[in-house]
Amino acid sequence: MKAAVFHEHGPPNVLKHEALPDPELGPQQVLVDVKAVALNYLDLFVQARIPGFKLGMPHILGSDISGIIKEIGENVPDELQRGMKVVIDPGRSCGACEYCVRGEESLCAQYGILGEHYRGGYADLLSVDAEHVISVPDHCRLDFNQSVAAPLTL
Ligand SMILES: [Zn+2]
Repeated sequence: MKAAVFHEHGPPNVLKHEALPDPELGPQQVLVDVKAVALNYLDLFVQARIPGFKLGMPHILGSDISGIIKEIGENVPDELQRGMKVVIDPGRSCGACEYCVRGEESLCAQYGILGEHYRGGYADLLSVDAEHVISVPDHCRLDFNQSVAAPLTL
């Protein structure tokens, strides 16, 4: 796949369009054919460097992602189907601590965000756990570019 990556922090010209191996698909994951990614201020902060925050390089930005399910892992629930239009919930947390149980996942000690703590969606493909995939129903008139306006703020 192709992805916009950076190998070191800096101004926008550190971004390079490079070939990377396709992401692996785990049994609980879907592979998303990325169609749109919003430019969030978080992307600019991460690219420039957040003090005290260390990334694995090369890094892929992009927290607000929409696309189409291309492949489905063997243990993914039937509600998710190949060809489905989706957006991705970029937040990740433990799911078990007191904050997660109260629905305050962003306070979890293990909280992280796609594009910040993990590789994001500035790529042709993204594999994500099925629990973070939100379908965009056909009756919803949002196109890919419109649907990426919401995920990080939800
Ligand atoms: Zn937690």
